[in-house]
Amino acid sequence: MLCREIVGGHRPPLQWANDIRLQAVREQIPEADVAVIGGGNAALCAALVARESGASVVVLECAPVEYRGGNSRHTRNMRCMHEAPTEVLTDAYTEKEYLDDLQRVTGGNTSEQLARLIIRGSFETTQWMTSYGVRFQRSLEGTLHLGRTNAFFLGGGKALMNAYYAAARKRGIGVLYNAEVEELHICEGRFKSGRVLLNGEPAEFRAKSVVVASGGFEANLEWLERVWGEAARNFIIRGTPYNKGRVLKLLLDQGAEPVGDPKQCHAVAIDGRAPKFDGGIVTRLDCVPLGIVVNKRGDRFYDEGEDLWPKRYAIWGRLVAQQPDQIAYSIIDSKAIGRFMPSVFPPISAQTIPELARALGLPLEKVESTVRQFNLAVRPGRFDHQILDDCRTEGLDPPKSHWAQTIDRPPFYGYPLRPGITFTYLGVKVNERAEVQGLGKTTNVFAAGEIMAGNVLGKGYLAGFGMTIGSVFGHIAGREAARAAGC
Ligand SMILES: Cc1cc2nc3c(=O)[nH]c(=O)nc-3n(C[C@H](O)[C@H](O)[C@H](O)COP(=O)(O)OP(=O)(O)OC[C@H]3O[C@@H](n4cnc5c(N)ncnc54)[C@H](O)[C@@H]3O)c2cc1C
Repeated sequence: MLCREIVGGHRPPLQWANDIRLQAVREQIPEADVAVIGGGNAALCAALVARESGASVVVLECAPVEYRGGNSRHTRNMRCMHEAPTEVLTDAYTEKEYLDDLQRVTGGNTSEQLARLIIRGSFETTQWMTSYGVRFQRSLEGTLHLGRTNAFFLGGGKALMNAYYAAARKRGIGVLYNAEVEELHICEGRFKSGRVLLNGEPAEFRAKSVVVASGGFEANLEWLERVWGEAARNFIIRGTPYNKGRVLKLLLDQGAEPVGDPKQCHAVAIDGRAPKFDGGIVTRLDCVPLGIVVNKRGDRFYDEGEDLWPKRYAIWGRLVAQQPDQIAYSIIDSKAIGRFMPSVFPPISAQTIPELARALGLPLEKVESTVRQFNLAVRPGRFDHQILDDCRTEGLDPPKSHWAQTIDRPPFYGYPLRPGITFTYLGVKVNERAEVQGLGKTTNVFAAGEIMAGNVLGKGYLAGFGMTIGSVFGHIAGREAARAAGC
């Protein structure tokens, strides 16, 4: 392979001043031992660990400072194995149970070896995180059902990312914002240099090794449309507009082995009134299991009570994406109010079902008949939305297997639902040292986070697993990149 290199003009290397003054650098960014591409959780974990190992580190974050932190800044928790209760997690969540859960949601489409590595690393990673100022909060009770399995960040992902950036700054890690990596020069598997648009100006960066932690391609509307067709035009991107898969494409074009199906992603049903990008967690609607969901024709199309919501919420984006015009409507009655996380946009309400259908723009008679048939099929049971209760329908297709209660107490409420894409699973294949596969035997290119999530997430999702993947693989990538750089 002919390896092209770009040599910038000679400039004396700057000291890592570790502040925004670095933004003034043009053409040639001072060489670091390790360059980290991306500015989310996986990137910052890798940067901090590489620095711990003695490497000089530069982080290249595409977003401006106020939007730094990628999708990670929207998060709330990470899934964590533990053998006994901790200050922030109840009971135990063993390696076996964690792996079983993962195998179930992915249908076995996961690398068991890498999955075990992530699961085993999850607990000690949370301890490492606290050493960098990340704080966790006591387990939450209520509608999330995650107090046993997931550790919640105090102040959410934004506070987590702020803690990491403060730690990076303190430790002399150079952070460049508005730094979009647009070229990688890899020769026989070895990263040599790259080109970045820094504040819109081209500049070169060099490092002895590189960690790619630049997310998936979920914010690239053209790429989504190539995969999903016109339906993608109705998708809403829940997180950062900066994850366009540019670095992923660069690596794939240079021979990195792909992993994961481009169509597989984490997508949830969100409020159809959400902004196109970056609406974050508040646009998610958790009322689906408490009522029925109909498409624009007024037909139900899936079992709303199939399983506990944390195990099912991630399939609803895809289900809505398969409906005409990629829209659906959650319909509940007043019994459901107070049983799910309050919505950011108020529901559309009405005193009767036909009035609600009219307000939602749905066929009146059809919706009325769908609700009537549903109510007739509901069998009496003991309602408990914390467990898989015995409230179900009989003789209805599709059935509602749990939490089926008649929709009969006004006022009635409706929410428009759209597919809200969280992150894509197509990525680069890695080994247990986070080395990107397919580039060459002794590569110095490492990957962490969404960009390699497809190794363990062939399909489906487990709440909180995205941050676990990024944290544990961020560690591995940072450690190995520092080693590859001779530190
Ligand atoms: C609303 C929402 C809520 C979520 N909640 C949770 C949760 O509670 N728990 C959980 O586990 N997961 C959650 N997730 C998923 C989670 O956000 C991701 O799995 C995780 O943040 C991925 O981390 P990452 O570092 O790989 O990617 P990101 O945090 O997205 O970081 C990628 C970074 O790469 C940068 N970048 C992209 N392209 C380039 C380029 N060319 N050059 C330079 N930089 C580039 C971006 O600016 C960004 O900073 C949520 C996601 C969303 C959208």
